[in-house]
Amino acid sequence: MSKKSGYYSTNRDLDNVPGITPFRTIVSFREALLMGQAPDEGLFMPEKIPHIPLKAFKALKGAPYTEAALLVANAFLAGEFPAETLRRIVDDSYTYPVPLENVHARKYVMRLDQGPTASFKDFAARMMARLMSASRDPGKRLNVLVATSGDTGSAVGDAFHGVEGIGVTILYPEGEVSGRQKKQLVTIGGNVRAVSVAGKFDDCQDLVKRAFADPAFAEFNLTSANSINFGRILPQIVYYVYAWAQLSRDKEPAVFSVPSGNFGDALGCEYARRMGLPVERLVMPTNENDEFPRFLETGVYEKVSPSKACLSNAMNVGHPSNLARFFDLYGGTVDRNGIVHRMPDVAEMRKRIYSVSISDRETKKTIKRVYEQYKVLLEPHGAVGWRGLEVYLELYGDAPLCVALETAHPSKFPAEIRELLAIEPDLPESMQDLDSRQGEPVSLSADYGAFREYLLKNLRAAD
Ligand SMILES: *Cc1c(COP(=O)(O)O)cnc(C)c1O
Repeated sequence: MSKKSGYYSTNRDLDNVPGITPFRTIVSFREALLMGQAPDEGLFMPEKIPHIPLKAFKALKGAPYTEAALLVANAFLAGEFPAETLRRIVDDSYTYPVPLENVHARKYVMRLDQGPTASFKDFAARMMARLMSASRDPGKRLNVLVATSGDTGSAVGDAFHGVEGIGVTILYPEGEVSGRQKKQLVTIGGNVRAVSVAGKFDDCQDLVKRAFADPAFAEFNLTSANSINFGRILPQIVYYVYAWAQLSRDKEPAVFSVPSGNFGDALGCEYARRMGLPVERLVMPTNENDEFPRFLETGVYEKVSPSKACLSNAMNVGHPSNLARFFDLYGGTVDRNGIVHRMPDVAEMRKRIYSVSISDRETKKTIKRVYEQYKVLLEPHGAVGWRGLEVYLELYGDAPLCVALETAHPSKFPAEIRELLAIEPDLPESMQDLDSRQGEPVSLSADYGAFREYLLKNLRAAD
């Protein structure tokens, strides 16, 4: 086995910031995976980003998705997991297709909506659950705590459902999930509990972060599974590698457009480029939560608070948690409250990344136009991604190979699709019995005291 790579906290240099004690220990991947977040509330980052030679990327042409996953997993993890374990993990995780749908010329939509919960979050959740299972201390129960703005919870819940020795608690904002998203969340059952919070996604995220910092939970082996866990980021590098290998001609670089909320998905592309994948530009369209496009334009970071409720509800994020990682990669530091302690190299960021805010009105127009013009069916998140790509190409001129990500299945948004296109999107197989499944959430206010009491009681009962 090769040498282990270490992971550091994005807050490691924050001296003299009230409330933050910088965590300067370098941890292993397993530790970062199980800790979720650093004790100083920073995010774990790999010290070294492994480099993959171009010919290894090119060799994936025509190969199944699992080979791309194995290449990336080995590059990061060969020092910590035996080769057979990594092989088994990727084979178990990726049992569904990854369609690359041609729209026109060499513009593609990559459909990441074929997994068991029909969102791209399945890709990360399934691999992370299996990595955690392979990393856990067999004598101790592991408790996963996750805040979701829609699709994370069901993907994570499904990925862990029935996994021995692991319990999952999912918090979601009562009014910000679609009917089907809610149904998916509350009907998993077994070792997976859904908690409906009377508040916004940011409130849910805050409850989770406070629980992690609360000594009362020290004995319960809490771990996170939302996009702050590096174990969620690593699998999200793979599909960029896969798409490029299948579609590129020779060394031709690709433009990827990634509809963005907490920026974990886009971060996968940033890492893929740093590993050596030819990426011409990373386009990161947001919905009306426009803090990042405004930052790239003005150089001043101001979070959107409270976050705005848009159609693409999984992207209703006013301060993306993975912004801390983007800042770190470009030499800056921002904390969890959105305070910038050190500016990143904004000029360099602008060279690599383009971001634009897409309104709900524009999102709807795009769904309608793309369907009418190309017979390609998008849901609101994918439409933000596609429209962002178009805006980029209008500004910077045409690029040959472009891939926009579709992150959820259109059938998750039946009302919008019906209203705009007067069609009924087919449910993917994994969701066909959804309407007949049974289950109820636990309902709580956004108050930390109430949540704390609920969680303590629950974890004690499960122990
Ligand atoms: C989570 C999610 C996004 C945003 O991904 P981030 O990694 O948070 O930027 C986009 N689309 C869908 C359907 C999602 O569930």
